[in-house]
Amino acid sequence: MADITSLEKLQRYFNSGATQSYSFRREQLKNLKASVLNHEHDLYDALYSDLKKSPEESWVTETGMVIAELNAALKNLRNWMAPEQAGTNLLNLPSGSKILKEPLGVVLIVGPWNYPFQLLINPLIGAMAAGNCIVLKPSEFAPATDAVMKKIIEDVFSKEYILYIQGDGATVIPEMMNNFTFGHVFYTGSTTVGKIIYKMAAERLVPVTLELGGKSPCIVESDANIKVAARRIAMTKFSNAGQMCVAPDYLLVHASVKDKLITALKETIQKFFSDKPEESYNYGKIINERQFNRITGYLSNGTIVHGGRTNKEKLFIEPTIITNVSSDAPVMKDEIFGPLLPIIPFTTTEEAKAVIDRHPNPLSLYIYTSSNKKENEWLKAVPAGGSCVNNSSWHLTNHHLPFGGRGFSGMGCYHGKYSFETFSHKRAVMKTPTWFDPDIKYPPFKGKLKLFKWVIR
Ligand code: NAD
Repeated sequence: MADITSLEKLQRYFNSGATQSYSFRREQLKNLKASVLNHEHDLYDALYSDLKKSPEESWVTETGMVIAELNAALKNLRNWMAPEQAGTNLLNLPSGSKILKEPLGVVLIVGPWNYPFQLLINPLIGAMAAGNCIVLKPSEFAPATDAVMKKIIEDVFSKEYILYIQGDGATVIPEMMNNFTFGHVFYTGSTTVGKIIYKMAAERLVPVTLELGGKSPCIVESDANIKVAARRIAMTKFSNAGQMCVAPDYLLVHASVKDKLITALKETIQKFFSDKPEESYNYGKIINERQFNRITGYLSNGTIVHGGRTNKEKLFIEPTIITNVSSDAPVMKDEIFGPLLPIIPFTTTEEAKAVIDRHPNPLSLYIYTSSNKKENEWLKAVPAGGSCVNNSSWHLTNHHLPFGGRGFSGMGCYHGKYSFETFSHKRAVMKTPTWFDPDIKYPPFKGKLKLFKWVIR
C-alpha cells in the first residue's frame, strides 16, 4: 500500500526538477535496461510459473519487446525532447512560435496479468523518457512476475523517483487516486475496471490513457489465402493460451471457405502444439481457477469441432474451435480471453457487419483477403483501435505504430514516440519582439474592420 506521504515524496522529487534533464532520463533508461537484462532469467522462470510461457515466447512478447522499446527511446530521446519549431500566422508576426514537451508530474501506471511484464514496463519507458516520476501498480494475479519486477525496479531506482506498489487493485488504487492528484493515469485492463478508473480520475480532472479489451473480430473472405490465414490465426489466437487483448476473439468466415479453413486450422494446431497440447513446450496455461471456470463455461455454447479437453489441476484448456454458435450465447457476448475460437459463417458483408456491430469499436479488426477493394471496405466499415490485413495481432509489436483502442476498447495510445507524447504536455510558447508594436492592434478600433478582415482570413 502507498501512503500519501510516499506519493508526496515523489511529487517533491518531481518538483525539484531532478528528472528533467536529458542526461538524467538517458541514464535512468540505461539503468532500467541493465536491470531487465540482469534479471532476464528470473523473468523467464517467473513467466513460466505464472503462465507457462517458454523463454522464446517470453522474449518475443515480453522481454524483447521491452528491450526494443528501450532501445528506440534511447536512440530517439534527444529528438523527442527537442522543442518543436512552429509557424506563426500573419496576425501574430513577427512573433516566433515553438512547442515545448513538458513532463506531467507524478504519473500512475496500472498493469494487467496477461503480459504482466511488458504491459507494465513499456508504458514506464515512455513515462521515464518524458521526465516524470512514476508509481507502478502491477496485477496481483501474476505473483511470480510481480516479485521479479519489484526487484528490477528497486535494484536501480529510488522510491522517490519510481515507486512500486503491490496489492489488490480494488483497494490500493482508489486509496491513491482519491487522495492524490496524479499528472496522468495510464491503465491497461478490462473495460469494467477502466470505467472505475475513469470516474476516479474525473473527480480530480486527471487525464487518462485507457488500454482496454473487448471482442476483436477476424474476417476471412472467400479470396483469402487459407493456408497462411490458418497459420497466422492459430498463432495469435492460441499464443498465451488465448489470453491476449489483441487475439482474434472470433472468426467471421465466408461460408464458401469455412470447411477449408477449419481443416487448415486443425492441421495447424496439431503441428504447433502436437496431439497433446497439455504437454507442449509451445502452449501456455490459464492464469488461475477463476479464469479457468469462466472460459470452460463457454465450451457448451456451440459444437466443438476441435479440442475441448481440459485439466483443472494444470489449468489447461486445449486449443478449441466451436461452430453453430448463436449470437446470444455468452461466448459471443463476453470477451473470450482464452483458447476458444468460435467460427461464424457469413455470405454477405451486411450479415457479418451485423455481428460485429453488437460490440462497436473493437480494439482490433483483422481482415484476410487478397482484394484491396475488400480490405478498404472493411477498414472503412468498422471503426477499431488498430488493424492487420492478412495478419492478426502483430501490429502491436511495431513501435513505429500508435497502439490503443477507441470507445469501449479505450482511449489514447502509446509505443515509441507515441508513449513519449502520452506522458508529455505540449506547451505552446509564443515570443513577441518589442521593437514592433503597431497601433492597429490597440483601441480605438473604429474603422479598422476592413484591415482586420484582411489580416484574419
Ligand atoms: P483487470 O481490469 O481485472 O485488472 C487490471 C488492473 O486493474 C490490475 O492491476 C488490478 O489490480 C486493477 N484493478 C482491479 N480491480 C480494480 C478496481 N476495482 N479498481 C481499481 N483497480 C482495479 O484486468 P485483467 O483481468 O488484469 O486483464 C484482462 C483485461 O485486460 C482484458 O479485458 C483484456 O482485453 C484487457 N487488456 C487490454 C490490453 C490492451 O493493451 N488494450 C492489454 C492486456 C489486457
